[in-house]
Amino acid sequence: MRIQQITTWQDAKANNQYPQLKENINVDVAIVGGGITGITSAYMLAKAGKKVALVESKKYLASDTTLFTTAFITKVIDTGLSDLIKMFGEKNTKLIWESGQQAIDQIEQIVKAEKIDCDFKRVSYFTYANEDSQFQSLEEEQAAAKKVDQEVTLKKKNSFKFKNAGYLEVKNQAKFNPIKYVETLAEKAVANGVQIFTSTEVTAISGHKSVRIKTKNYEIKANQVIIATYKPIKVLKTFAKKGMYQSYVFEVKLPQNLILEGLYVDLENPYHYFRIDKEKGFDRMIIGGEDHREEAKMSATKNFKALEAYLKNLIAVDYQITRKWTGPILEPSDGIALIGESKPNQFVATAFSGNGMTYSTIAGMIFRDAITGKKNPWSKLYDPTRKMKLKAFGRKALDYGEEFYQGYVKNNLKY
Ligand SMILES: Cc1cc2nc3c(=O)[nH]c(=O)nc-3n(C[C@H](O)[C@H](O)[C@H](O)COP(=O)(O)OP(=O)(O)OC[C@H]3O[C@@H](n4cnc5c(N)ncnc54)[C@H](O)[C@@H]3O)c2cc1C
Repeated sequence: MRIQQITTWQDAKANNQYPQLKENINVDVAIVGGGITGITSAYMLAKAGKKVALVESKKYLASDTTLFTTAFITKVIDTGLSDLIKMFGEKNTKLIWESGQQAIDQIEQIVKAEKIDCDFKRVSYFTYANEDSQFQSLEEEQAAAKKVDQEVTLKKKNSFKFKNAGYLEVKNQAKFNPIKYVETLAEKAVANGVQIFTSTEVTAISGHKSVRIKTKNYEIKANQVIIATYKPIKVLKTFAKKGMYQSYVFEVKLPQNLILEGLYVDLENPYHYFRIDKEKGFDRMIIGGEDHREEAKMSATKNFKALEAYLKNLIAVDYQITRKWTGPILEPSDGIALIGESKPNQFVATAFSGNGMTYSTIAGMIFRDAITGKKNPWSKLYDPTRKMKLKAFGRKALDYGEEFYQGYVKNNLKY
């Protein structure tokens, strides 16, 4: 079969048409960006009684990063618990995982309340060791989990039919089809009064008391603006706090019941991740990894070769690669996302690393609470204007260095 350069979720795109902005308007809240973050925030604010307009530069909603995701919905973020404790302390680390778990619950509640048919399913998240020598890291994570009252299960021997040397299981995580979810969520937002405009690029944002959101010919006046453009436009305070990576993904057809349905991540640097979904007559694996910094230009062919070598080594059965794609991952410099008010009445949500499904929902909740004057337990934690601690930068710099050597250098020499 010819490999198509499209993602698994492309088939679910309804390609709903929304009008272009063709007049000046006034709203309570303007949202820039029609990916999962913008749509979730629009839905939540409309539900809280706000008059909302959302503007998206592309022809269709959710055609950017949200289309390229692998859509693990999890509190287990890319930075491990032991590192989080060293950087943020036990209390904040507990809050980080709690915010993720509450985001999963919130997504499930929305799916149920709005009857969204998006294949949402609770599954376990497994961090696995590729080699015996990595098992100690799992033990350290187990000990860290205990310190912050999080339930995990460590197993050395297991019946998974893929190569591994033990795993740490976190139950009660989830997965879905992200495009089915956001397409319907956008319809529900509109039903709650949100005005959506596509093919409308925001060119400038100014003002604080009343914010002006300019497009080529028109402008929106709002009390607040939410910048949900993935890579924020002109929010200088967050500029140095994140780094862009490229990630490589295969969709793979596997025999049924080889690997338990769930979410899987290894301990390599750069890491690999995969999910298993039950399809009619086969199991679908979506596997990704081989991430490298965007500035370190390298051929996609080399990284796909490295990913396939990993896949071949992992499973000892025939498989068929049916799709492949690459996508951008925006990493925060200290391991957790930047969400909140970056200037008076200007809110931003960015640097979600591989956790945009939960972070987008956390962002929706933080924005809704800030704009409706409620206290939110996580707003300080994710504050985009926070001063990053030197030790956090240091740990992440080490991580970048290792990833550069193991990914960029190794793949360039080997393939
Ligand atoms: C390969 C890959 C795998 C991933 N896997 C996972 C995973 O398993 N789990 C997970 O939680 N996360 C994962 N992520 C991360 C997740 O996909 C993202 O964090 C999330 O989709 C970001 O959503 P968003 O709405 O913030 O950004 P986007 O989806 O990029 O939406 C931003 C929108 O803003 C629009 N825009 C930009 N500029 C303007 C402008 N000036 N005017 C108007 N509109 C504008 C863009 O066109 C775009 O539609 C993965 C990412 C990649 C690339």
